[in-house]
Amino acid sequence: MFDEGLIRARRRLHEIVSGHGSVAQSRAADRLFAGDYSTSVTVATEFAGSRLGLGVMHDLEGEVVSRHGVTWRIPVDGRPVRVGPNEGMAFAMAAHGGRRHELGLPSGTNFAGVAGAVDRYLADTDHDHAQVVCALEIAGQFDEVVLRTVAPPEYQGEPLAEVIDHERRFTFSTWHGSMVGFRFPDAVDGTRIPGLHLHGISTDESSGGHVRSFIASSVTAFVWVDEVQSPGES
Ligand SMILES: [Zn+2]
Repeated sequence: MFDEGLIRARRRLHEIVSGHGSVAQSRAADRLFAGDYSTSVTVATEFAGSRLGLGVMHDLEGEVVSRHGVTWRIPVDGRPVRVGPNEGMAFAMAAHGGRRHELGLPSGTNFAGVAGAVDRYLADTDHDHAQVVCALEIAGQFDEVVLRTVAPPEYQGEPLAEVIDHERRFTFSTWHGSMVGFRFPDAVDGTRIPGLHLHGISTDESSGGHVRSFIASSVTAFVWVDEVQSPGES
């Protein structure tokens, strides 16, 4: 077992020394891809004191999105439900600390455009985008939003790719809310999820999920440069 107080103290020390925040990942992502949906961490352990995060519930009982310590799951009907501190997640990532920077995202920016804007920000600030992870929060009005969630597996150990083949998609011509997540390096081993990964929750908490696509209409966006902690072994 680990000592959560010690982990927090280490995070804080690291932040003071580097100016960077940190991203805690509950478990290696390849376990999830291989169909292990058992609990790796509780909501409280992963998200307490965090800025933002995402994940998926144990047994795929919904995609997970967390903002400022409030966490929702989006089950297969697409209606977000707030989750309690002791509920378990199969996989989760949370961003802690660091310094916030505004990221300009003009109207018309799409999913790929966000990744490009993050990479330009990193290049301009002398960060090597293969070495760091960025946490992101984008809030405001979006157009042509496609969100998705997944149903529980149809059989024990069904691989995630197969589950995603029958994902549920929800489309919105106009959508107000927040999207949070991470931009990981593109070339990563199977323990990480590469590239841009966002989960959303609408302002009225009536919709949310894993973000497939969008066009930013009128948004504010913030980025934090973080370092990655080793995935947990649970
Ligand atoms: Zn996702």
